[in-house]
Amino acid sequence: MNYEGATYRPPVESDSLLLQVTVGCSHNSCSFCNMYRDVRFRVASMEEIEKDLQEARGIYPKAERIFLVNGDAFVLKAETLQAIAGKIVEYFPECQNIGMYASIGNIKTKTDQELADLKNCRINDLHVGVESGSEAVLKQLNKGHTREEAIYHLKRLNNVGINYATSLMLGAAGKGKGVENARLTAALLNEVRPNLIWLGTLGIFKTVPLYEDVLAGRFSLPTELEVLEEEKELLSRISLDNVILQANHPTNTVPMFGVLPRDREKMISHLNAAIEHYGKESLFKLMPPRLNM
Ligand code: SF4
Repeated sequence: MNYEGATYRPPVESDSLLLQVTVGCSHNSCSFCNMYRDVRFRVASMEEIEKDLQEARGIYPKAERIFLVNGDAFVLKAETLQAIAGKIVEYFPECQNIGMYASIGNIKTKTDQELADLKNCRINDLHVGVESGSEAVLKQLNKGHTREEAIYHLKRLNNVGINYATSLMLGAAGKGKGVENARLTAALLNEVRPNLIWLGTLGIFKTVPLYEDVLAGRFSLPTELEVLEEEKELLSRISLDNVILQANHPTNTVPMFGVLPRDREKMISHLNAAIEHYGKESLFKLMPPRLNM
């Protein structure tokens, strides 16, 4: 299998076959992200994709889920994605789920009919980098979408029945703004009703623009205590039925996994227990220890 540059996939896709259809990320300018900084974006050719499918068919007896990599594979035109899905079904007829990372901007460029056609081609699991429900935070992160656009285009996915997970980032609002960010983000989630909520925590690498913002005083990191309080606020305000919440990324102080609303109280107690264990005072002094990564 051919993988060029860095390759990432969501934790829930750990058993999926990873098929490279793009290299890097077409946006590649979120202020916190260094995942594909050094990778030049390009689209894999159909010949490359078919060669990988042939090789995979020889290795794997079956592949029920296939995840298209890399950073925002949904940037591909609808007709290209349909052609790729067609090839997948040719080699892996048993595959029922084709997923990939998508930005709000990627969804925006597709018509309702195209989204419906993609759903019919088994493209029915997107991992969307929403990060926050706050307009100011989205701007700081340079996500390339507004809160209003996120709500509008995620609802378009609902209309055609494409499942999606929303990726969110705790701590992204900076010092003193976590609770407000949680309220705005929970309101967004309650309106769009994702199938899965994925929670990570802001980590700042020295190679990203947000690091410069920290040095210049334009962005202040929250303390660990603030991040945990933000997470509690978010959990308490999500009013969705039977939604999976996955917060087990290594950047999270307290790894958690559960289903809301069933596990809400247990998860909040878990966060309270962590705050008690480490002590409010020490957590208040502690910045997320990520500047040296
Ligand atoms: S869209 Fe995703 S992969 Fe691309 S720069 Fe932003 S966070 Fe990174």
